[in-house]
Amino acid sequence: MCGIVGFTGTQQAAPILLDGLQKLEYRGYDSAGIAVLDGSGIQVRKTSGKISNLVEKTDGGRNTPGVTGIGHTRWATHGAPTDVNAHPHISNNGKYAVVHNGIIENYLELRRELIKQGFHFESETDTEVIVHLLEMYDQGDVRKAILKTAARLAGSYALGVLCADEPGTIYAMRESSPLILGIGAGENYFASDVTAIVPYTKNAVYLEDGEFARITPDRIEVFDPSGNPVQKKISRISWDIQAAEKGGYEHFMLKEIYEQPRAVKSALEPRIRDGEVVLDEFSCSAKYLHSIRKIIITACGSAYYAGCASRYAIEQLCGIPVDVELASELRYSEPLLDRHTLLIVISQSGETADTIAALKEGKARGAKVLAVVNVVGSTVAKLADWVLYTWAGPEIAVATTKGYTTQLTVLFLFALSTAKRLGRIPEDRYAALVRALTNLPRRVQQALDMNPSIPALAKEYYRYRSMFFIGRNTDYAAALEGALKMKEISYIHAECYAAGELKHGTIALIDDRQPVVAVCCNREIEEKTASNIVEVKARGAEVIAVAFRGDQKILSLADHVLSVPKTETIFSPLVAIIPLQLLAYYFARENGCDIDKPKNLAKSVTVE
Ligand code: GLU
Repeated sequence: MCGIVGFTGTQQAAPILLDGLQKLEYRGYDSAGIAVLDGSGIQVRKTSGKISNLVEKTDGGRNTPGVTGIGHTRWATHGAPTDVNAHPHISNNGKYAVVHNGIIENYLELRRELIKQGFHFESETDTEVIVHLLEMYDQGDVRKAILKTAARLAGSYALGVLCADEPGTIYAMRESSPLILGIGAGENYFASDVTAIVPYTKNAVYLEDGEFARITPDRIEVFDPSGNPVQKKISRISWDIQAAEKGGYEHFMLKEIYEQPRAVKSALEPRIRDGEVVLDEFSCSAKYLHSIRKIIITACGSAYYAGCASRYAIEQLCGIPVDVELASELRYSEPLLDRHTLLIVISQSGETADTIAALKEGKARGAKVLAVVNVVGSTVAKLADWVLYTWAGPEIAVATTKGYTTQLTVLFLFALSTAKRLGRIPEDRYAALVRALTNLPRRVQQALDMNPSIPALAKEYYRYRSMFFIGRNTDYAAALEGALKMKEISYIHAECYAAGELKHGTIALIDDRQPVVAVCCNREIEEKTASNIVEVKARGAEVIAVAFRGDQKILSLADHVLSVPKTETIFSPLVAIIPLQLLAYYFARENGCDIDKPKNLAKSVTVE
């Protein structure tokens, strides 16, 4: 996520780069920087925090001369969001500057190798290996140095490169990260998306994975990974700036819902190697692991529900009892925690006030803390003993979607790797679950593709002022999050009940004025939930069910079925939630709600 930009032409580059970065601001970031080539070499200006700081530092770019440059907004993955870690990074001989979005998965081994070769590292980023590799492979031909460098990199990247030996030239390259080229008159550009380019030109070239471009003011040449020239088609950009910022989606929330296959993949892929879950970040000793008697998961809002949904996987696979507690309750409950308790805290922003307080309370009582966090360098990340980052990229809509599903992904990885380390999972079950996890990004994509009828369904039901959500076990956990989504963005009263509890109260409220959403993705207890569907239907309620595709029983009982692909039961909340997010989204849209910024809610709740 975040963004990169590049410019070469005859105008001063810095103001154009800063303008491009401001256009990419919506993607979220924690620091920014530019590198410009002037007569005396590469000049770098960078700073943590807002782009406005950089604008101030450079007097709107005016005090940074030069007509060729690259720029970056960073969403830190490796190393805190500090000035030093901000991009661009510079090679030791000062000849190369690099900006990078994405993650270099094999950076540790490359870093060790480069240090052995005598290279000096300034930052903690994974990115810095790229710029030193360029220097190492430079034998007077920049293109060859880039090809050799790219061949060493594993991971995802959109890269911009500047070389002091080639004034007027910028290089751009992509692998699993967005990047496009803009074609102007006597000036050319690259950027992460059209937003940064659209004010200057509507002619664009879309790079494919593995391709790289050499860009001068009058020419764009594109090459394949072997260095052979590729003929590219020039496309016309039809979006206006506003649509472009949301990638063509009407709201950030919808964009983020559709980003989930990629987000889940980024959380998953670097941590599964050769059929094994590798959680280097949770580096506790075997002795400590065996000493854990209890796990307490604590969080707020959707993160709390991610805890509820992952609890089944952790308990079943690791054989350790798990309590899931609201952080706002745990902090004042004099909790029974000690050094035999592992406290798992979950927070997208890492700044949730109640979660931080619960974390501190746990530590004071002797528990070790494992954090599941999206924002690198956040308070929760700093206070915890170990951090598992979710690598979801910035989430802009207040109601979380990809934040939640990546939290689940990471917690499932934790469950599986801990079970293995404890020797509590048979080999064949482990292998089957690793395969099931590896398939999750595809399953999420299928769940998105399988439900084109949701907008029409929303038109039919959006006027209801109250709804019930039911499910059992893992389905109950998914239903809790589904109901929260509905409440948050559509302001419809949505109450979630464990299906078996209906008879103990709620069923008195069921009638034809409130539809019931029933989650039925847990095959072991589907029969039970099916009976609850019959019960609520007998009282006049219409039922929208979420079920595995082709589930004839549920199809015959419910009024509408939202399908999801078959998934291992313990992982099923991650796919069951997808149609529920879409349902909430389209209900809110029909109700004319401010979807990305629901009333009275804030993205990161930093007060009690
Ligand atoms: N992984 C790089 C870093 O932490 C780049 C992150 C980004 O996409 O901005 O610096």
